[in-house]
Amino acid sequence: MQVQKFNDLPLSKDVLRGIKALGFEKPSPIQAQSIMPLLEGRDVIGQAQTGTGKTAAFGIPMVESIDLSDKRVQGLVLAPTRELAIQIAEHISRISRYTGIRVCPIYGGEKINRQIRQLKRGVHIVVGTPGRIIDHLNRGTLKLGAVHMVVLDEADRMLDMGFIHDINKILDKVPKNKQTSLFSATIDRNIWKICNKYMDKPEKILVSKDEITLEQIEQRYVKVDRMSRYPILKELIVDQGVQKAIIFTRTKRGAYALSKKLKRSGYNANALHGDLSQPQRDRVTQGFRKDKIDFLVATDIAARGLDISGITHIINYNIPQETLAYFHRIGRTARMEAEGTAITFIAHGEEKALAEIKAHTGTRITELKTSVNVKAGPPEKHKAICRKCKTEFKLPFKPTDGRPVYCLSCLKSKRRHHRRRH
Ligand code: ADP
Repeated sequence: MQVQKFNDLPLSKDVLRGIKALGFEKPSPIQAQSIMPLLEGRDVIGQAQTGTGKTAAFGIPMVESIDLSDKRVQGLVLAPTRELAIQIAEHISRISRYTGIRVCPIYGGEKINRQIRQLKRGVHIVVGTPGRIIDHLNRGTLKLGAVHMVVLDEADRMLDMGFIHDINKILDKVPKNKQTSLFSATIDRNIWKICNKYMDKPEKILVSKDEITLEQIEQRYVKVDRMSRYPILKELIVDQGVQKAIIFTRTKRGAYALSKKLKRSGYNANALHGDLSQPQRDRVTQGFRKDKIDFLVATDIAARGLDISGITHIINYNIPQETLAYFHRIGRTARMEAEGTAITFIAHGEEKALAEIKAHTGTRITELKTSVNVKAGPPEKHKAICRKCKTEFKLPFKPTDGRPVYCLSCLKSKRRHHRRRH
């Protein structure tokens, strides 16, 4: 359920007064989505551009979490520049103006003694640039032992500015069981690394300009099973008029195998995955850009950042593992006013992931039916006996009479052996 009013949130009277004094009438989308999980103590990753109201999104829960009687620093916000640090500190001060909470910006370029004096008097929330915070930590003038909430704001910019080591150093100094949230306009591999290292089952929230383009994308899903995946793809290509598409697979091997299959069926397809060398990758993307290739079969990492026009369809041959990846994938279509369609393949057991994507997008994803027969329910298992170790195991297909079958561990050791010999 989307929060419509600040009053719908379990906020204290003083904080609601502060919000009212700021003239905010209703929460912005990022606020509506992040305040509640943050109040509940969860870790949050928010993908949002500047100007979306991020500061209050983390500032309001941070203010609510402060124990006024404890004079130690309890909330820490890291920001890339002094201007931003000042602006955030000012904004949080205004939210907390009726609470008595003290907020202090800490940034380079200002006389350190003034900051030391302020810190000595007792500050509940520190908003600072990583470099200057390290400086205070080294001098012993800032202690982070009582911090229970950390926010990394504009994390992508902080990484671009080379603050990664400082950030790691600071995060290693705060107590382990703290709550961490991260906000960034883009979320790439380096950002994920920080999230994986310092966060615990984070809630992912996406609010961006892509929301506008999402409106232009028709989102469909189609039910598949193991045997029908490829026949369904072929039918869709014809029936849906797929002219230029990126087809996403879960693995590199899957991308390679599918592109081979498509080529065999007579399509102009090529795979883009992490095992290709840079010149090979460039050749493939150039070919796709110049319409020499119609179907690009790609993994998430390989397709990151691709900006190619004229894509009519995005096909999720395998559903993305992460909701954010769904946005990254389908954001590749419907660029520059054009319309596009995204079709996601859903196998048995993946309905929950689809529901999660639906909830995050807040848009409609409707079912697309094909003429291909799809079995409902889990894939049928067949009994088999491993030829080598003679144990019984289950196979997802019916073994052919007379053909030897092997259980997974024997198969692996056979492969290893085979590789050694060649
Ligand atoms: P960000 O941190 O995402 O760059 P800010 O938090 O600075 O964005 O917010 C951008 C502007 O929008 C600020 O001027 C802020 O006062 C205003 N703003 C934020 N939240 C709301 C709201 N719920 N209603 C009205 N204005 C808001």
